[in-house]
This record gives sequence, structure tokens and C-alpha cells, in this order.
Amino acid sequence: MSERFRDTGARLWGLARELLVVCPHCGGRAVVLVDPGYRECPRHPGEHLMAARRLSCPGCGHTGTWRPRPWRKGDGDLFFGGGPPLAVPRMTGPEDPFFGLPLWLRRRCRGRILWAYNAAHLDLLEGYVGARLRERHPHTGSGSLVERLPAWIKAAGNREEVLAAIRDLRTRL
Ligand SMILES: [Zn+2]
Repeated sequence: MSERFRDTGARLWGLARELLVVCPHCGGRAVVLVDPGYRECPRHPGEHLMAARRLSCPGCGHTGTWRPRPWRKGDGDLFFGGGPPLAVPRMTGPEDPFFGLPLWLRRRCRGRILWAYNAAHLDLLEGYVGARLRERHPHTGSGSLVERLPAWIKAAGNREEVLAAIRDLRTRL
């Protein structure tokens, strides 16, 4: 862990290409991946959120498919892809934004729930929480992942407890 954390401007959606979730069939660790047939658009990398998702559990063989559904009132953000508007998956945690399954990497901490999509997400959280000096990204617009973290994760007084929780989550990988 470094003393200094430099925000690269990473967004939560950038980490949502591979998510670890609790298998709805056996309770083991399953993974949610972007459909392998999806072609990333280099100019619109965030659009992968609207790509179909595959759920697969190596433990029991359970599989599932998710596709975006038409937007309804109260859904939040819309996506226009040519046809009727689609609902953009909500990335609020501690469930996965596609199937709504509990994230595999989640646990209670300071009376809240600490959660992460995958190992890279844990790395980012650990780097940020553990650093004494946090350098902002100059062009993050509406806010990078770390800028948008809740105050209880950012609070210096919670640093050791949050780090311990992150380390504990890492043992689940
Ligand atoms: Zn399973």
C-alpha cells in the first residue's frame, strides 16, 4: 500500500464488466460477465452497461442471462439506443446492478455495508482508504468512483476499520 493515492478518474461502471455475486442456486461464488459477443465501442465505453450479461456459477453450473429492459417511470436514467428508451442499471450496491443478486464481496463495517464488485474494486478502495495523501483527478466531471464514496469510508477516523474489512473481503477471493 502506498502513502499516496492518485485518482485516475476511474468510474464505477468501468469496474462492472466482471462482478462476483452470490449464486442464487447454491450460495457459492458466481460471476456476472459482459456477453462475450458484445463489441465495446471505444468512443462510448460506458455503453457496455447496456450489453447483455451472463451469470455463471462454477460450483453448481447455474447460468442466467440478463438483458436491458424498457424504461419505466421511476426507473432513473434512460438509455436511447434506437428503439424505446431502456433503463440504465443502477449501480448503488450492495446488490449487482443486473440480476439484483447480493455481491460476493460485501460485509458490515461501521454499521454500514462495505461492498465491491471484484478484486480490482477492492484494490482501488484499499489504495484510497490507506493513503495519507489523496490527489484528486483534475478532470473528473461529475465525480470519480473514489470522489463519490460515502463519507464514512472516506473518514480518517474509520481508516483502520475499513482497511480491516477490505482485508477480510480479500480472503473471500
Ligand atoms: Zn451455484
